[in-house]
Amino acid sequence: MATPSHRRSLRKRRTLLASAAAVAATGLGASYFVMSANAEAVDLYHQTLAAKDGWASSGTGTTGGTKADAAHTFTVSTRAQLVKALGSASDTTPRIIKVKGTIDANTDDSGKKLSCANYASGTGYSLAAYLKAFDPATYGKKLPSGTQETARKAAQDKQKKNIVFRVPSNTTIVGVPGTKAGILGGSVLVQNVKNVIIRNLTFADTQDCFPQWDPTDGSSGEWNSNYDSVTLRGVTNVWADHNTFTDAPTFDKTEATHFGRKYQVHDGALDITNGSDLVTVERNQFTNHDKTMLIGSSDTDSTGKLRVSIHHNVWKGIVQRAPLARIGQIHLYNNVYDTTTVNGYAPKYSLDSRAKAQVVAEHNVWKLPSDAKVAKLLSGDGTGSVAGGGNLVNGTTTDLVAAYNAANSSKKIKTTVNWTPTLTAGLESSVKNLPTSLATSTGAGVLS
Ligand code: CA
Ligand code: CA
Repeated sequence: MATPSHRRSLRKRRTLLASAAAVAATGLGASYFVMSANAEAVDLYHQTLAAKDGWASSGTGTTGGTKADAAHTFTVSTRAQLVKALGSASDTTPRIIKVKGTIDANTDDSGKKLSCANYASGTGYSLAAYLKAFDPATYGKKLPSGTQETARKAAQDKQKKNIVFRVPSNTTIVGVPGTKAGILGGSVLVQNVKNVIIRNLTFADTQDCFPQWDPTDGSSGEWNSNYDSVTLRGVTNVWADHNTFTDAPTFDKTEATHFGRKYQVHDGALDITNGSDLVTVERNQFTNHDKTMLIGSSDTDSTGKLRVSIHHNVWKGIVQRAPLARIGQIHLYNNVYDTTTVNGYAPKYSLDSRAKAQVVAEHNVWKLPSDAKVAKLLSGDGTGSVAGGGNLVNGTTTDLVAAYNAANSSKKIKTTVNWTPTLTAGLESSVKNLPTSLATSTGAGVLS
């Protein structure tokens, strides 16, 4: 009879053989094989970020809740269960949270669906009264203040208590394979904590029921919303892997226009701000969204931090911020950008480098419609850098920065950076087949 260790080694060998077969079948590269072999030696819930896999592998690495005991290993399928499993934001006990199926954040403790009207109830807020109170034609171009703004804020706070999920340190949140796992209408807030893993989840339609009118935002004013699907604020060591981010089923094009501006109920998909550091974002799908990923919330966010690796993600049907990068050392590689307009989400630009951001963008692939301009793929304020080569546009190696700088007489993008990426496990330099391989190997629902 086989000893336990013998059985383990047999099982491991079978796993390796199965991985090798899978690699042969999909044509994925050798680097992917190594990661799969490591990953499959332990179950999905106990996997940790591989060595040298981007900035989140730096320092002590990113292990999430892998050391969780049985009492801190949860399977949740309702909002109330998720809240209970997350516990207190200050409790650093390792925990693993398996999300089974889709959790609707806009539900009460008994699972009953909550509407925007439910949150507004008792506050005195109504959109009609708000629009009447702050019409620039009568109220002027100043920030809303008074009864209806107070009521809006009260209603917003009620929704916030319901849909924001605070994640403590040393936590792994993973979708259970085969269950369409995800969070609908919720905002996962990882703030001032360390060591968090978020995988295999679909984050859909994170909505603020109560956008605020700001007539001073831009030249024409904006409606601003409060919640990202995932917000990283002041965190260290976070790995976001194999998730899907989308506004579906509520596309921006279906929203009304008020005061001449589109009513915007969505904020970011995955925002990384307030001195967050050592983050790896890989193999996610970002789709059907406007302001997708902010790195640094202002030009003075935090120097020496905001180090983020973004690789093997698919960005399709997104308008801007993929990402908008500030200040940090940011490595962007092996991503696929499809700038086809999807459900009314018409791309403005892909990457914005500003506030002295030190971006290395290499071996990414862009698919552009025939009338799109390469010069429009980048944006900047004249202080940001974008280095790196080997980027393909419609199959041809292209210097994006040269194209951008040739088309812009000022605010040119700098081409040198103050660092060289070394945490690059899995970096592929031959990327022609990346659109095909990432189409079926990214986002929620492909891990098992
Ligand atoms: Ca906003
Ligand atoms: Ca945000």
